[in-house]
Amino acid sequence: MNQPQAWPWLRNYPGEVAPDVAIPNIALGDMLIQTAAKHPAKEALFFFGKRISYKELLAAAQRMAAGLQAAGAAKGDRVAIMLPNCPQAVVSYFGALLAGAVVVMTNPLYVERELEHQLRDSGAAVIVTLDVLYPRLARVRGESPEAGPVPGLRRVIVTSIQDGLPFPKNLLYPIKQRRAGPQPLIPYGKDGVTRYASFMAKASKLPAHVETAPETDVAQLQYTGGTTGTAKGVMLTHRSLIANAVQCEAWFYRMREGKERFLAALPLFHVFGLTVIMNLSVLKASSIVLLPRFEIENVLKAIRDEKPTVFPGAPTMYVALLNHPDAKKYDLSSVKACISGSAPLPLEVQTRFEAVTGGRLIEGYGLTEAAPVTHANPLWTKRKIGTIGLPLPGTLAKVVDPATGEELPAGGVGELLVKGPQVMKGYWNRPEATAEALRDGWLHTGDLASVDADGFFTIVDRIKDIIIAGGFNIYPREVEEVLYEHPAVREAAVIGVKDEYRGETVKAFVVLRKDVTVSAMQLDRWCRERLAVFKVPHLYEFRDELPMSMIGKVLRRKLQEDEELAAAGN
Ligand code: AMP
Repeated sequence: MNQPQAWPWLRNYPGEVAPDVAIPNIALGDMLIQTAAKHPAKEALFFFGKRISYKELLAAAQRMAAGLQAAGAAKGDRVAIMLPNCPQAVVSYFGALLAGAVVVMTNPLYVERELEHQLRDSGAAVIVTLDVLYPRLARVRGESPEAGPVPGLRRVIVTSIQDGLPFPKNLLYPIKQRRAGPQPLIPYGKDGVTRYASFMAKASKLPAHVETAPETDVAQLQYTGGTTGTAKGVMLTHRSLIANAVQCEAWFYRMREGKERFLAALPLFHVFGLTVIMNLSVLKASSIVLLPRFEIENVLKAIRDEKPTVFPGAPTMYVALLNHPDAKKYDLSSVKACISGSAPLPLEVQTRFEAVTGGRLIEGYGLTEAAPVTHANPLWTKRKIGTIGLPLPGTLAKVVDPATGEELPAGGVGELLVKGPQVMKGYWNRPEATAEALRDGWLHTGDLASVDADGFFTIVDRIKDIIIAGGFNIYPREVEEVLYEHPAVREAAVIGVKDEYRGETVKAFVVLRKDVTVSAMQLDRWCRERLAVFKVPHLYEFRDELPMSMIGKVLRRKLQEDEELAAAGN
């Protein structure tokens, strides 16, 4: 276990890092109540000119909770939230929790197939979504919502981005309207479909109090793919989510209560943004500058005008910012602390970013199953570039031989295991997968890592076959399955290939059936209809056959090697 090695090293910097953290035994809803009581007038959210105080945020969340209870939501019922970053997303999150419900954060990029799986698997009774996303949801519900593919989904609350704005027609930074054309017809008042604004207006001010056991009660099901290609719901308790916010806070220990401003360019529906931006911000009475999607110009303007001090992101975000031709024209000096996660952070990006902003950019590591952060480089003291840093306070980590489970000495490469209060309770309704991932309280991350003598960890490779493109995880098998469904495709294999901008991008190798032809463009259309856009292959290569192992398994690794050889030859 490498923590004992890590802390003595840090003791070279007396008073710099808390060796452990005390985790308050409260529910997430109580965290908001406490902050609102202490800092009622403090700005909690900023959204394109609209400022919402903690008092207002709590009042809205309480109304949402009361409305959900009136609509029949009982303790433990699942409430899905399919929204981009906007005030309604934060209100719905805390509202559902105050009602005693379990939140299911849903990616608005999901297509029908993915959405249907998540809604059915979680058994969501309510969903809060956006008007422009409604048609997709309606198709998932089918002709008859009571008897359709997700019959448990009784209530659909539909909001529009304008609901969160002060003066819709006079945006400070116009949100690009990519979806031109008439607004979808939404059958308000029918099939359990309600307008967000009237739902809130009709709700009473205060919900009934729901007793919560933070350590055992699940606050959230966070879906993450698996090597099987089917997304599983990670059960995160109130305690694991609060623990991770507290652990991150201890790491960024120079945060001043009520003084920081977080830039929410990362989506809050992903657990990285959720914990490191939303929950950490509420814990420290900070403000969140909400951006509904990553549009680099809006990011630059938001930094210039709203002066965020903390900017958690994925490496691609920092790359995009650095590559923007006008980046130098903006004053970015308010940014003091950035934590990069989700994928490896290139060294050059780190150095250039720090030069441009004058702030610190450090690399961290985590996974959905750990709510998510387990490691980070020290922000203010000595860090090691190219590593994921040290385990967070209260987190144990070790590297083991995947075959024997034996802990490896410093320098050895093996599977990274972590243990700590932030680790999930298990996978929703999947005891076997849970037993596989959690053994003796140790979470098996599926990542290959090594640790040095100072206790700094480095991610070497992935045991699981995920491709990470622009911070999004893509499971090759899921993409392959979609390709296999195409009538012209005999075999398909998907790998990640190096991409300057997105880190990795998806490449598909395809073998066609005899006497049929299909173009890359046709396959592209096929995939776009069945997969979220970030999973769609960017490159296709048609082959006569694929390399196979003796037992007939496609050798992805061989394809990867071919690809690397070809790249080296160029
Ligand atoms: P997710 O569950 O979507 O948060 O994805 C977790 C996975 O992202 C991890 O298991 C790693 O494979 C990968 N990951 C996260 N942070 C890093 C990092 N700093 N370097 C390399 N891989 C990372």
